[in-house]
Amino acid sequence: MSDAPTLVKCLVWDLDNTLWRGTLLEDHEVVLPEEIRRTIVELDARGILQAVASKNDHDHAWQQLEALGVAEYFVLPRIGWHPKSRSVKEIADGLNFALKTVAFIDDQPAERAEVAHHHPEVRCFDAALAAELTGLPEFSPAVVTVDAARRRSMYQAGFRRTAEREEFTGPDEAFLRSLDLVMEIKRADDADLSRVEELTLRTSQMNATGVYYSDADLRALIADPEHEVLTVSLTDRFGPHGAVGVLLVGYHERVWHLKLLATSCRVVSFGAGAVLLDWLIGEAAAAGVHLAADFRRTDRNRMMEIAYRFAGFTDAACDCLAELRSADADADADADAGAAGSGRAGIEFRHLVADRRPAPTTVRVDAPALGPVASTGSAGSTGGAGA
Ligand SMILES: [Zn+2]
Repeated sequence: MSDAPTLVKCLVWDLDNTLWRGTLLEDHEVVLPEEIRRTIVELDARGILQAVASKNDHDHAWQQLEALGVAEYFVLPRIGWHPKSRSVKEIADGLNFALKTVAFIDDQPAERAEVAHHHPEVRCFDAALAAELTGLPEFSPAVVTVDAARRRSMYQAGFRRTAEREEFTGPDEAFLRSLDLVMEIKRADDADLSRVEELTLRTSQMNATGVYYSDADLRALIADPEHEVLTVSLTDRFGPHGAVGVLLVGYHERVWHLKLLATSCRVVSFGAGAVLLDWLIGEAAAAGVHLAADFRRTDRNRMMEIAYRFAGFTDAACDCLAELRSADADADADADAGAAGSGRAGIEFRHLVADRRPAPTTVRVDAPALGPVASTGSAGSTGGAGA
């Protein structure tokens, strides 16, 4: 087995004699050992979600978790009298996680066997190993991103948001307005890069170009005054959605070249893709340039094709595209043969004569003014000048 083990994305805890010492319904008092508390806090900081599957009275057990000061660390607690295999499955489904990314820890061999029998993909651990979990490779992500460290609070905000949406009876637009959505578009810096990488990998169905840019590709382009690497995050009154999009734009004299546009499928229902395209089109209009977007049809990016068409992009010819084709030919000649994205096999242009767009009604956009930086060498300054 030379392959690294699949990372655990959620650990499901039993309570009695696993998370705490003692049995809630029999003992006067249960104790949370310090090494278990440390494990919970550390896994949380690594972006590993934690849930509870316990056979107990729900309110009694939850109050105990609150009294021990750890209730906030858990999502989707399943405390009741049904089989734990069912609880584990409900937790995985509620998080939209594959069972092979879920682990379960319990002191009772019979409970572990029951879960393993129904869900052989779930990794089951004996409670005796609890304090050692943080040392195992399956609980040790290589990189802990900003979003990973606050993943749990993003999920908790997501559950509150969904619950409120289900209760909301007015039109969808009114609900979106009630969220106070703010989209922040910013020039990517080093700290953003791992989030960008995570996003382009995870959201291939929303990658409009079907062209993959590696961490190194994007890192090199951040410093390039001819290119703009932008990250997009979304926040609402429930909390942050985290990094939800990435754009790569190449500047040319008469046309801006949208080389990468990827958005998270988590924010499709907020219309994030359309807001982003409209913002970019408005910036191009202000600069007096056309826009050309790379597009390669895959079996998973049909939604982005529709978004382009809806925004007004067409496959009509334009003189400005010749400028892009010659620039690409130069770049290809320079690039390593192995560089990702080199060559334009199967990539078409979608073109648009940019016009100003009305501001979105459901999202406030907080973004820098775009445009190539004058040849002073100070690329990527704050761009805070009046919009
Ligand atoms: Zn044009």
